[in-house]
Amino acid sequence: MKIIFNNTDLNKALENINSLGFVPTMGFLHNGHISLIKKSKKNCKKTIVSIFINPTQFNNKNDLKNYPKNLNNDLKILKKNKVDLVYIPKVKDIYNFKRKVKIKINPNDQILCAKFRKNHFEGVLDVMDRLVKLIKPIKIFMGEKDFQQLYLVKKFIEQKYKSKIIGCQTIRDKSNLPLSSRNYLLNKKDLLIARSVSSELIKLKKKFRIKKISKNFLINKKKSLENEFKIKIDYLELRKLKNLCKTSRILKSRFFIAYHIKDVRLIDNF
Ligand code: AMP
Repeated sequence: MKIIFNNTDLNKALENINSLGFVPTMGFLHNGHISLIKKSKKNCKKTIVSIFINPTQFNNKNDLKNYPKNLNNDLKILKKNKVDLVYIPKVKDIYNFKRKVKIKINPNDQILCAKFRKNHFEGVLDVMDRLVKLIKPIKIFMGEKDFQQLYLVKKFIEQKYKSKIIGCQTIRDKSNLPLSSRNYLLNKKDLLIARSVSSELIKLKKKFRIKKISKNFLINKKKSLENEFKIKIDYLELRKLKNLCKTSRILKSRFFIAYHIKDVRLIDNF
């Protein structure tokens, strides 16, 4: 496994590689990340994983400061999973040119997390654009856990580059909580709350398999979850998978939730 810390070494390492799968991450790796790596190894001759905590996608200084890190453990995991290349750039390697035109999110896409985390996806698209330009992978593997991110990155990258974005299913623990680096910021009691919230989404999906959801149902459900678990919910919405438009039907759609347990913000979709 080759570990690369700068762009000169990256360019050298990429010479003569033509079937490259890319798994972008912010580190503190878990089985969700590993599932993306396995898919890349199955589909591409070589796999590169990046570890980069992208400052421009954090709209909250404390969130950036508190983001969990453990590079030694990440490298152990990557080696065990036989990753070919690991790219660990510095901020100056990624932000090595200034854009003439700022990346903007379409007004129709200012929904869900785009509405509640100002400039978050602008930062995500900016870093993905820079990473893809440097790495030139044929396929990029991303998790459905961050469904809106997957949706926006796919739209943006595939119309600009030849790289294909491959969505991968969410990996959950035994109690259905999606694995996330942020789960490690929760204590035992808060983890139980997060598990209950994910279970509620799954129950909703079963309950409304056939019936239409009424307008006020999700508004009331949001309030009742907030009261029961003492959490602040940014949104609880049912949206179509294809275009993320609001819907009242379960078919080809998902429930999306974002909520805060103390100062940790979590998302899920089911
Ligand atoms: P992150 O390190 O949180 O930026 O995530 C890097 C990639 O891993 C993103 O494409 C995420 O959607 C994906 N990912 C994170 N958690 C999971 C999970 N539980 N299951 C599948 N993919 C995940």
